[in-house]
Amino acid sequence: MQATTSSQPSTNNSRGSLVGQRAAHGQLLHRKLQLLAYIYTERANARLVHSLHNKFGDNMVGIMGDWSALHRRFREPIRGKGMCKMMRRHGLPVYLLNKHKTSSICPKCCTGDLEKFLEVDNPCKWRRHERPKVICHGLLRCMNRDPAAHKDKHGKPLEGARCWNCDMAAALNFAHILRSARATGQVPEQFRHAQPAQN
Ligand SMILES: [Zn+2]
Repeated sequence: MQATTSSQPSTNNSRGSLVGQRAAHGQLLHRKLQLLAYIYTERANARLVHSLHNKFGDNMVGIMGDWSALHRRFREPIRGKGMCKMMRRHGLPVYLLNKHKTSSICPKCCTGDLEKFLEVDNPCKWRRHERPKVICHGLLRCMNRDPAAHKDKHGKPLEGARCWNCDMAAALNFAHILRSARATGQVPEQFRHAQPAQN
């Protein structure tokens, strides 16, 4: 009886020490994984800056849209402020640019609006039975049908509509805005926000 009563606290103590060891091990593993994530992120950042320097030279200026993307379920978070801070820390100047209408105006003719036109299979497989087809957001076409407005790489007028990747169109419009800002100090009229009517 005495042996039973004396062994109970020792079993509890050994269980308690085992739980404590596991908790400490879990904490140690968590810290180790955090440190590895930090090291790998810093290494990826350095590789990105190095490749940007190689591709665009030392006088590169980074332009980013000022729209901050919210976190969406099942999507990888988009780096915004963190990317700017990282690039500035590595000596690359970054400026934010208002993205108003940059992906809805044709960068070639600067007068035609871009429209979505292509229907594709719904990428969400679990929703295909409700909506088998959806409009593709990545491919746009210019609504300006004037053949002289768009030319192919040989300088001939382009037959039919000019199609654009939406990210490519936005990046080319960024370049338009930047050149205009350098030359005149103003954003081109087609990319400005509508001014509220004054009474
Ligand atoms: Zn156009």
